[in-house]
This record gives sequence, C-alpha cells and structure tokens, in this order.
Amino acid sequence: MTLETMTGGCRCGSIRYHIPGAPKFQVQCHCRQCQQTSGGGHASIMVCSNEGFEMSGKASTYSYTSGDGNEVTHHFCQCCGAPLFNTNSKFAKAVYVMVGSLDDPTVFEPQRHIFTGEGYDWDPKNPDLSHEITLPGR
Ligand SMILES: [Zn+2]
Ligand SMILES: [Zn+2]
Repeated sequence: MTLETMTGGCRCGSIRYHIPGAPKFQVQCHCRQCQQTSGGGHASIMVCSNEGFEMSGKASTYSYTSGDGNEVTHHFCQCCGAPLFNTNSKFAKAVYVMVGSLDDPTVFEPQRHIFTGEGYDWDPKNPDLSHEITLPGR
C-alpha cells in the first residue's frame, strides 16, 4: 500500500473504506478526546480529502461540540467498536483517518505532534518532529 491509495476497515471486517488521494497532514494528536477515542496516549491521524472517499458497511457515529464550537463526529463500527475516522463541521471536506484502521499503517509518516500540552511523559514524542502545545496557528 502507498500513501496515494489507501484502504482500511474495522477489526471485524464489516466496514471497509478506500481513500484515493495522499493525506494532506499526518499528525500525532495528544488531545484528551483522541486519548479517549483511541484508548491510548494519543491518536495517529491522517487528514485526507473526502473526495473519492468510499466506504462499504455502515459506521455508527458519535457527535459532540468541540471547544471552538465545531461539531466533531466519530465514526466507528457498532459491531467491533473499532474507531475508523472523524469528521469536523468546520472542515467539511476533510476526513481524519485513524491510522490504526488502515490495512497497512506502515505508510504513516507523522509530521508533527499536536496538543502536546495534554500528553503524558509515558507517551514520548519524537524529538525530530515539531511539537505544538495546542493546534498549529492557534
Ligand atoms: Zn467492525
Ligand atoms: Zn486529538
């Protein structure tokens, strides 16, 4: 698998997706919401365009209002519970793909750590990447 054409799905196999284009950003997000969604210290996320994004099977959703007033929706499998991707009302053309749901997560090339202010010492960050305490540009 390459960054130009990626496939993935949930743990039980009832949901599958296909992303035709390369990701715009690749981040390690340490925010509290990503901790709770991923079950770990951070979430590894590829921000992709929703153009050509295709999914088979039906994902369940959970929506909440983020601190800056946008509606964030988590898409996950109701059968196995695997997190697949998130969407955000402010960035309607983006899909925030949970890297662990890819068929081949080795293609992930993280560029930066974000929301490091909410991270933990036991979840170390790559010193070669840039670190943002919240979001870049905020
Ligand atoms: Zn599943
Ligand atoms: Zn996050």
